[in-house]
Amino acid sequence: MSNSAGRCVSGRCCGLGRRRGAFTLVELLVVIGIIALLLSILMPSLSRAREQAKQVQCMSNMRQIAMAFKMYIDANKGKYPRPAVNVLPEDWIYWSPGRNLDDGRIVPYLNGKHFQPEAYRCPSDDVATHWNDYRYSYSVNELICHYQPQGETLNADMIRDPSDKILIIDESVDTVDDGCWAWQSSFGGGRNIISNRHDKSKEAVTTVDGGRGNAAFVDCHAAYVQRIDAYNPRYYDPLVRQ
Ligand SMILES: [Zn+2]
Repeated sequence: MSNSAGRCVSGRCCGLGRRRGAFTLVELLVVIGIIALLLSILMPSLSRAREQAKQVQCMSNMRQIAMAFKMYIDANKGKYPRPAVNVLPEDWIYWSPGRNLDDGRIVPYLNGKHFQPEAYRCPSDDVATHWNDYRYSYSVNELICHYQPQGETLNADMIRDPSDKILIIDESVDTVDDGCWAWQSSFGGGRNIISNRHDKSKEAVTTVDGGRGNAAFVDCHAAYVQRIDAYNPRYYDPLVRQ
């Protein structure tokens, strides 16, 4: 049907009605199939990109903490804060129950007056409370922060090859239970291991020490290291020269 101006009113004469309703079930299924295929191709790379962004944020957190350590030792005659395992005034983080987190020794150099929990947590750490009620993701090198042979804390200028020495690890949920990274033979006990939560490679999920994780070094750089490196004295023992 056409009106007096010759325009189509019903849509039948120009075939619009037929064309609009022309998708068949098969065509719809093909379109849905293509969309599903595209999603299956894109989703893994999207989730990889999201994880990479979190890994970079985690590394940035750790670099900031390392820099706060540096400022602390500059203000304390080269002495490191303690690793927060024995409830001492010089502890880097006042994590244990009953302590005021704002009093952690690096807080003034990291967040100003107040403790900010997200600065001490890996963005990919999805466990709110770890063993021992520890709620953070990072721990610091016991050999550096609680140097025992002379019964005193290590002085910063005694550290050999500071750019090789790991100061902070992004610790695995399997072992993190306080602010202290101490597995080395002189302290006995089981291993504290670097987390592989950012690494979804086959190697990372099939071996105990496989894959990579985040670490920050004495010279304040951070890196995505091989987890196995944390067991090499070159990287953990402050007095070993390579
Ligand atoms: Zn992390």
